[in-house]
Amino acid sequence: MVTTHEVFNQPAPLVDTNLFAANRAMQAALAFNAPALDTAPLHVLGAVVGSGEMQTHARLANVHTPQLKTHNRFGQRIDQVEFHPSYHALMTEAVGAGLHGTAFSPEQQATGHAHQLRAAGFMLFTELEPSILCPISMSYAVAPALKDNPAIHADWAPGLTSRAYDPALKVWRDKAGLTMGMGLTEKQGGSDVRANTTRAEPAGTDGWGQRFSVTGHKWFFSAPMCDAFLILAQTASGLSCLFLPRVLSDGSLNQIFIQRLKDKLGNKANASSEVEFVGASAWLVGEEGRGIPQILAMGTMTRLDCALGTSGLMRQALSIALNHTSQRKAFGKTLIDQPLMKNVLADLALESEAATALALRLARSFDRASDPHEQVMTRLLTPVAKFWICKRGSHFAQEAMECLGGNGYVEEGGEGIMARIYREMPLNSIWEGAGNIMAIDLLRALRKADAAAALAHELAPARGMHPALDRLAAQLPIRVEEMASEMEARRLAQDVALAVQGSLLAQTAPTAVFSAFCDSRIGGAWGHSFGSLGAGVDFDAILERAMPH
Ligand SMILES: Cc1cc2nc3c(=O)[nH]c(=O)nc-3n(C[C@H](O)[C@H](O)[C@H](O)COP(=O)(O)OP(=O)(O)OC[C@H]3O[C@@H](n4cnc5c(N)ncnc54)[C@H](O)[C@@H]3O)c2cc1C
Repeated sequence: MVTTHEVFNQPAPLVDTNLFAANRAMQAALAFNAPALDTAPLHVLGAVVGSGEMQTHARLANVHTPQLKTHNRFGQRIDQVEFHPSYHALMTEAVGAGLHGTAFSPEQQATGHAHQLRAAGFMLFTELEPSILCPISMSYAVAPALKDNPAIHADWAPGLTSRAYDPALKVWRDKAGLTMGMGLTEKQGGSDVRANTTRAEPAGTDGWGQRFSVTGHKWFFSAPMCDAFLILAQTASGLSCLFLPRVLSDGSLNQIFIQRLKDKLGNKANASSEVEFVGASAWLVGEEGRGIPQILAMGTMTRLDCALGTSGLMRQALSIALNHTSQRKAFGKTLIDQPLMKNVLADLALESEAATALALRLARSFDRASDPHEQVMTRLLTPVAKFWICKRGSHFAQEAMECLGGNGYVEEGGEGIMARIYREMPLNSIWEGAGNIMAIDLLRALRKADAAAALAHELAPARGMHPALDRLAAQLPIRVEEMASEMEARRLAQDVALAVQGSLLAQTAPTAVFSAFCDSRIGGAWGHSFGSLGAGVDFDAILERAMPH
């Protein structure tokens, strides 16, 4: 090839940075919520997940997607999913960092901030690769639920909290580490799991308690190579929660048949399957007929992860946009110095910091589960954070992608990460309870708890710091008491989210960030797109804080 031109004005990619050291918003949120937390493990993880080597694994795991092998060459069913080695490299790091069930180990529990450490690690890991975090998140969520069957918990908890990743299809007792998934959604209903038709017939008792024979299907069954699943099925007493291992204790394969893998918009490295059960063996967890409350307890934890995950993706998209625009020139200036680009980037930075603050505040409530105020906050802020942060994610990703111009839309190379982020974003909003379901869940939470007083208490530290926030904080308890109708539930969820975010930023962020957030999102000095902050904003201070270097 003849060289026709010199390549210039193409930015160097963001690589080999420590994602924790570069994230001032996360550091501030942790210092506020968990001042005694030793952040050394996050510095270590931040370097790993920001490394070029791991970025290559993330790219390869998304390009070489999981393949379903239903049969072996002799025609026998094997129902296995094959992954690229890079998938296993990512899983090894995530499990090694203890992002799955490790927070429930006695050593981690003794620290008093196991969930916050894990939440920050989960957010950082999302910046590397979010889709492999699906089985990681499900393993986190099921670990405490298994306590409702103490015999299974005794056998499985050590494997679920172990930092060893062991992908082999083997009986649980021969494995160094275990992962678990969740099977709720059927063809006829996902949000409304009461429509489940999968049946479970009694099949005796053994060391793990009441055994059932399960027949039916699951329409979405992610990470089907997990070692076991908690599923919902109908018994004579109603919808019940059952423990379904892939390999039975005698070493034989359980009767779980993977029909096909989903062809998804994004989330490519993760396998999501459709399965059928034909007399599969499963054991009761908790009370028969009480499956829905049991599954809801797990949903609270996976919903936290949706908020954390989207906050991590926002931070990643912002960092890439800042890295690009601070190197690329157009019309005689670096893009970041063009006034309107400054406005777009600063606006994204506010959104990212507010998401980080809310997600990590929610994580704090999981560490203080014995405190009555924190119990209300878990119940209240889980649907609020899941709804609002995830709802903002897709819009955010589109705008961050646009900062890169055409390069942002291209799949290839380092900058192609933007396309991956964009395709991933809608997922956190859909699964584990889509937007409407979250907003309606907030109404349910408000009905039960002493919510108005708890919300007022939560917002009190920021009183007097911004007139618009004061006005919103004064109205909200009244709106909560009066109880919004379902028709107004999204608006209420949005306003609770903004008030809590504003109040948190008052306590964790510099004045430039706090006032611009409240002026725009709460005071109305804002348009309908990012990049419409008012003229009085201290753009440089906001950008300086957000820079990933
Ligand atoms: C990639 C991927 C992986 C998944 N993995 C798993 C998995 O491993 N295990 C699992 O169990 N599930 C899994 N799911 C399923 C997911 O949790 C469901 O798709 C989700 O809960 C929504 O259920 P649904 O698809 O049946 O939609 P529906 O329940 O039909 O909802 C459709 C829409 O209607 C809205 N809606 C529902 N009820 C109301 C109402 N009362 N008022 C107003 N609006 C309402 C919802 O908000 C949603 O927007 C996965 C999904 C995806 C996309």
